[in-house]
Amino acid sequence: MTSGFVANARIVAEALENYHRESLSRRAPVISQPPLSQLIETLELERLATEGGLEGDGLKRFLQRYLEATTRLHHPAYLAHQVAVPHASGALAALVDGFTNNAMAIYEMGPAAAAIEYFVIRWLLQKIGWPSERCRAPAVSSAGPIGAGVLTHGGSLANLTALLAARAKLAPEAWHLGTPKDLAVLVPAAAHYSISRAAGILGIGVKNLHALEADTRGRIRPDRLENAWGRMRDQGRRPLALVANACSTAAGMYDPLDEIGHFCRERNIWFHVDGAHGAGALVSKRYRSCLHGVEKADSLVWDAHKLMRTPTLCAAVLVRDGRDLDGAFQQEAGYLFHDKDQPGIDFIHRTVECTKAGLGLKFFSVLAALGEKRLADYIDRQFRLAEEAYRYIERQPDFECPMRPMSNILCFGFRDRRIDPLQIRKRLIASGDFYLSSTDLNQRRYLRLVFMNPETSLEDIHGLLDSMRRIARLMAPRI
Ligand SMILES: *Cc1c(COP(=O)(O)O)cnc(C)c1O
Repeated sequence: MTSGFVANARIVAEALENYHRESLSRRAPVISQPPLSQLIETLELERLATEGGLEGDGLKRFLQRYLEATTRLHHPAYLAHQVAVPHASGALAALVDGFTNNAMAIYEMGPAAAAIEYFVIRWLLQKIGWPSERCRAPAVSSAGPIGAGVLTHGGSLANLTALLAARAKLAPEAWHLGTPKDLAVLVPAAAHYSISRAAGILGIGVKNLHALEADTRGRIRPDRLENAWGRMRDQGRRPLALVANACSTAAGMYDPLDEIGHFCRERNIWFHVDGAHGAGALVSKRYRSCLHGVEKADSLVWDAHKLMRTPTLCAAVLVRDGRDLDGAFQQEAGYLFHDKDQPGIDFIHRTVECTKAGLGLKFFSVLAALGEKRLADYIDRQFRLAEEAYRYIERQPDFECPMRPMSNILCFGFRDRRIDPLQIRKRLIASGDFYLSSTDLNQRRYLRLVFMNPETSLEDIHGLLDSMRRIARLMAPRI
């Protein structure tokens, strides 16, 4: 098997290298979407599933067709989503993890992967400024609580885990008796939908999400917190948590964490910061102030597969007091959970997952390939590019931005409201030249750019606006 493996791995590596080159040079479309039934045909899925033998020349042919129908994140005109353009070292780590398949939630099932996860969690905690655990279960040091965390398959699961920890703290009886009827969550309208899903899953009920007042940029207004809290109490509800964005998904806005954190501390409310996208700014000296006050949080979610160039998925749930996470799951499973004398720690107490992939290796390999400084430089570059694109767009007579960006996410549109952004987007995507997304802000639809690709430059934005003007003229020659 070894010789076949290496030969096939070479085929894969060469195909990917070629793919990368084509994407960078823009020779291939950033996106192409053949119909599903056609893809099932051209990929010969039926035949391969029946006959097997996906290797050698067959593998080569298959990969070529497969890669032709991928959305090319490495293409500089990939501007649509928050999914990282993965660093190649992270992709190789995914291969190593897949091959070794160490389900490392129990230390003995993957010591190296567990050590890496442990290290990665500590590294992330240090970036927040929370004291981190030493080689044993978290405890309280004389200086205060010790932070802890776990890596999960994505920010959505991470948000659920954090709110579960909050529930265990406020209402530990919920695990046995069910969720008390008087719990509610304070959350801004700009929160990611995974927060409301978590409320549904946890039995809090989405109708018990209390909206926090926000300014025109969708940022929580700290001067209105008292009011929201009072109203909630008048309705006989207890706040399970207050959720803030760092940053918001649609517009990339950071909530004023310091003031919110201060309020939560005073009222003894669990403060959850959803930094799935934007917590990466903590690595940057220049932009870490976007999260000023984050250390006042009780929990933070941070996706490495967004701003940290890591292949999907690798998300962290981090808590200021590790005991809160260990209390989140009060599960018994004798074959896994038992007192043991072992040289490492188990993560299984802290996560929904049982068979758990060694996610830390993917992020760690990116970090170790780039080094911290170059990772920070990348984040600086992408945030700065969004600012430059904003200034460029604002100078155009026919375009505008609803707000100045705070991160690498930028929304914009034609000033002329008769031009439908969704039609423009559809045609850009069909051309295969640009891939961008759209969002609703203040009752208006905008196009949305997320600067993830380290190869995207301001010139791509010049080209984008020119293409959009051409499309708009074709759509309505009189405009
Ligand atoms: C992307 C995102 C999420 C969801 O994370 P996944 O890893 O996609 O599950 C949650 N919150 C915010 C603010 C996000 O931007």
